Amino acid sequence: MDRNKNLKFVREHNEPWDVVVIGGGATGAGCALDAASRGFSVLLLEQHDFGKGTSSRSTKLIHGGVRYLKQGNISLVREALRERALLLKNAPDAIHIREFIIPCYSIWQKLLYGAGIAVYTLLAGRHGIGHSRILSREETLRRLPTLEPEGLSGGVLYHDGQFDDARFLIDLLRAANSHDAVVLNYCKAASVIKDETGRINGVEFIDEETGDRFAVAARSVINAAGVFSDSVRRMSNDTAPPLLAYAQGIHIVLDRKFLPTDDAMMIPKTADGRVLFCIPWHGRVLVGTTDTAIERPELEPRALGREIDFVLETAGQYLANKPTRADILSTFAGIRPLISRKAGAKTSSLSRGHELFVDNSGLVTITGGKWTTYRQMAEDAVDKAIEVAGLERRKCITSTLRIDAPPANGPGTRLHPKFEYTHEDVVRAVREEMARTAEDVLFRRTRMAYLDQNAAAEAAPAVIEIVKNELGKDDAWSKAQLVEIANLLKTPSGAVPNFHD
Ligand SMILES: Cc1cc2nc3c(=O)[nH]c(=O)nc-3n(C[C@H](O)[C@H](O)[C@H](O)COP(=O)(O)OP(=O)(O)OC[C@H]3O[C@@H](n4cnc5c(N)ncnc54)[C@H](O)[C@@H]3O)c2cc1C
Repeated sequence: MDRNKNLKFVREHNEPWDVVVIGGGATGAGCALDAASRGFSVLLLEQHDFGKGTSSRSTKLIHGGVRYLKQGNISLVREALRERALLLKNAPDAIHIREFIIPCYSIWQKLLYGAGIAVYTLLAGRHGIGHSRILSREETLRRLPTLEPEGLSGGVLYHDGQFDDARFLIDLLRAANSHDAVVLNYCKAASVIKDETGRINGVEFIDEETGDRFAVAARSVINAAGVFSDSVRRMSNDTAPPLLAYAQGIHIVLDRKFLPTDDAMMIPKTADGRVLFCIPWHGRVLVGTTDTAIERPELEPRALGREIDFVLETAGQYLANKPTRADILSTFAGIRPLISRKAGAKTSSLSRGHELFVDNSGLVTITGGKWTTYRQMAEDAVDKAIEVAGLERRKCITSTLRIDAPPANGPGTRLHPKFEYTHEDVVRAVREEMARTAEDVLFRRTRMAYLDQNAAAEAAPAVIEIVKNELGKDDAWSKAQLVEIANLLKTPSGAVPNFHD
């Protein structure tokens, strides 16, 4: 992927695009790949970096969602379990199976959670990825050696998929690009263009690096702007009523010593009636999440002090060695786009299903949903765009389309002793993956900022230097980058990075 080449292509492209996609997260990348692999001409616009929104900030699970079962949302669980199986088949480099254990502190819990998980496994049917089973107290403690042993009666084991969200997003975009989709980061859709009958027939966008404005003609436009979908809808209809509610979820990252095992732990009931995961990830432990209703979406949400305390406290009830704020290596927050027609509804009770909306101008909005279901969401959105714009009917092929990850770089010069990432990974991020800033590299092409914020801050000058040389930037740019990164990796309390009270 090459941003300059893609921009040049857009300048020289005089035909209307079959599909313009607004948003470069899971949903938008999925739409671009879906439409391009059907042979349509596709332009994808992302206002910041790919994955800057929610899609780099998830729990990194490809799952049916045990929790949604409890809510009785069987069709959502079924759909997600089917998509889980497709992803494991089509993207074997990126998605792998993880074993999860639910610790049980009474026979009653063993029965209850064992029955719930049996239904979950049954629902997967032929898309199942492993047998669930009840574990003895001894086996549970052997597999989760740091689990609180007091009163433990055993565990329930089941399987789900795990991945690196921001990395897989790049795999999707690369796949779309290889089908001739033109993908652009740092290009913000500013307004939509309509013909004399009020039908949408183009998009105006701004190259955020240069300020250049572009107007492109489009046969169809898909709004995949995640938590910003309502603002894109208002570009087309300034009185469009809001569709979305916003729920923030945070994660903390801890040293592997808190869960020194390859199995993940699922805490089945938190004080607010949700679930909490402790999952091995890139040699650390990812713990989350929360469900905090928020008023307005923002591009750089921050964890709240009370969310951090909630996660620490809940995990601490199950871990023999209780983590404290001083143990946190990193925190990150993301915002769920939830479809809500009821003002004031509790966000944790809102469906994680997706929906399509078509407004009078023909703008197709696809929102809600989960990372796991991005492919189905994209198929539905592109089918709808074909119908609305009268494009040639071509069948979706993504259920059998392979998505490869690039081979790992060989041994190289490490950027920091605490990370395996190398100098060569940064070069590749810039040359082949359209990274434009140190943030893109530290937060999304590599996951250094998510794994250990202090170590990432130490690696930042080296990363900035490589990006600067690759992009031919000057010293003023480097200085500004340092300020930017320091701000993003802010550690207000000294020990706990990246949160506010
Ligand atoms: C805490 C948390 C944990 C989660 N865990 C999981 C999980 O484990 N498994 C799972 O399946 N799902 C999970 N999800 C849900 C999943 O992450 C989201 O459903 C998914 O990432 C949404 O993707 P999206 O592409 O719709 O939105 P986004 O990723 O937010 O992408 C939308 C993009 O549109 C861009 N944009 C907005 N306006 C414009 C404009 N005017 N011009 C150009 N671009 C624009 C934004 O910058 C953004 O990058 C989780 C969500 C949260 C918050």
